[in-house]
Amino acid sequence: MKMVLTGPKRLEVQESGDFENSPAGYALVRVLCCAICRTDAKMWSEGHRDLVLPRVPGHEMVVVDDWQRRYVVWPGDSCGNCRFCVAGRENLCEVMQITGFHRDGGFADRVIVPQTSLLPIPETMSVVTACLAEPLGCVLHALEIGHISSSDRVLVYGGGTLGLLTALAAKTAGARPVVIEKNPKKIKIADGFLKKTEIVCLQETSENDFDLVVNACPDETAFQKGLAKVDKGGRFLFFSGLAKNRMIETGLIDLVHYREITLSGAYGLTRENMRRAVYFMESHQDAVKYLIEAVVPPERAPRLMPRVLAGGGFKYVLDFTGSFVNTE
Ligand SMILES: [Zn+2]
Ligand SMILES: [Zn+2]
Repeated sequence: MKMVLTGPKRLEVQESGDFENSPAGYALVRVLCCAICRTDAKMWSEGHRDLVLPRVPGHEMVVVDDWQRRYVVWPGDSCGNCRFCVAGRENLCEVMQITGFHRDGGFADRVIVPQTSLLPIPETMSVVTACLAEPLGCVLHALEIGHISSSDRVLVYGGGTLGLLTALAAKTAGARPVVIEKNPKKIKIADGFLKKTEIVCLQETSENDFDLVVNACPDETAFQKGLAKVDKGGRFLFFSGLAKNRMIETGLIDLVHYREITLSGAYGLTRENMRRAVYFMESHQDAVKYLIEAVVPPERAPRLMPRVLAGGGFKYVLDFTGSFVNTE
């Protein structure tokens, strides 16, 4: 079975049908689990720059091959030859094809992916938490671009999955992160994660002069508040895209000028980021597991989309095997 996005807000259950032989360099693999990303919900609601319909979404998956080897899948298919690939920035490849956007993705029992995008996971790793290797890889990529260092005071806006993973990765790098989440309910449901990791999550802070500020939510107010809290000579990491067509105060953008703030964008991840995410995850499974809201049958996906879009909870994982499901 597969879940196919056929139009705005239309995600349909269909039979997978027969797969043609996968082309050279590609592998047909079985999907064990695939997490729903906020981007999937955004595509469901309003489309996406890189999306062509009909499409099977899903780019946060764990798969298994015919020899029962398990992998996470780097969602890119890069050319390896363009100036960005050659410079080691394959996430910016000129002809990038993203699984779940340009090609059918992991909301299906089977998927065809580039062989070189299959990254093995250790036997000790939980299949469900391994679904977070992709978002975590994006976080590691972003922090690399933000030049995270052990002396940094870090402020993260957004206490969702990405924001909390950002704080965890920053803390692991030796930095001191604080997370700002305006929704008290979300702080409450993050309790297990926050206790385990000893990360501070507040509704607001009066502190200023952070070395690194990261926006991990699409709220333009958070973006503006965050920019105002960067220290002179500090860095602002533009990690989450913003809600469309909103006003940004130009006086705040001027702070980038007066304070010599480094403003850097981060989008996606490289294979190496994802490999590192797998290792990171292996030693942080106990904390990361709190970021799984529920493991559900794939047919639940359409009903979950509005909830994922609203960003009220953590990760929902679609289970294509039936053996991991923990809620109805
Ligand atoms: Zn994602
Ligand atoms: Zn390329």
